[in-house]
Amino acid sequence: MLRRRRNGTFASIRFMLKRCTFISLLSFFMLLLHAPPPALTDDFSAARQRKAVREMVEVIRAYGMHDPEILRIMEKVPRHRFVPEENRKYSYHDTPLGIGYGQTISQPYIVAEMTRQLHLTPTSKVLEIGTGSGYQAAVLAEITPHVYSIEIIEPLYERARQTLTENGYEHIRLRHGDGYFGWPESAPFDGIIVTCAAGHIPPPLIEQLAAGGRMIIPVGKRFGTQFLILVIKNSDGTITSRNLMAVRFVPLVRQ
Ligand code: SAH
Repeated sequence: MLRRRRNGTFASIRFMLKRCTFISLLSFFMLLLHAPPPALTDDFSAARQRKAVREMVEVIRAYGMHDPEILRIMEKVPRHRFVPEENRKYSYHDTPLGIGYGQTISQPYIVAEMTRQLHLTPTSKVLEIGTGSGYQAAVLAEITPHVYSIEIIEPLYERARQTLTENGYEHIRLRHGDGYFGWPESAPFDGIIVTCAAGHIPPPLIEQLAAGGRMIIPVGKRFGTQFLILVIKNSDGTITSRNLMAVRFVPLVRQ
């Protein structure tokens, strides 16, 4: 009698345990069914993105870029976040891409080489003319927090502000306006990078370059032959310039 009751108690405990296991398993599967899908980075699955980025960095290296810090930055900054939806699948091709309003995000190798030529350190102050998508500004911000950038097309300026903020680069100072005149209140700059082709080097930019500072600027005809020029302001204030390579940039326009 006693035995049977004990057996009965054990049986009901076993039954309750089974029911609990069944219920917890059921809730686990229900949770799985309702859980959000694994995070995708805007159409670019994490694995696909890593592979594409690595291939892009290999292409940049094959072009002759061996600076490990620059290569690390090119691997880190998510270019696809700066490329409009319709071109996103080409984000990690080493080519310029349309960003709307007739403008382009530059070829990654050119971004890397222009950045390297500035010889920036974490305390440098750098000015960019032609924010465009904001990608080049983000690359600069991986070296120094003191980045200033000017864009003449208002909707691009607005969109770059949003993209940079969403991707952790909200400290970059942005301005809507004509970059020909530079940013005199914050001058002098240790580095100036112009990402649109000018007919001549704007004198206000030379003026706003610090002693020992470096400017990198494409100079040449609108949609014609252009050269990437490195301008160095020596410590005595004299200017040295060097032609680095032939390039093709959208033109610097005036307001
Ligand atoms: N650095 C950009 C490339 C942008 S293309 C990026 O990483 O995406 C060049 C940009 O220069 C365009 O957005 C164009 O509108 C801008 N631009 C042209 N003339 C300008 C000027 N006078 N002042 C400021 N921006 C200018």
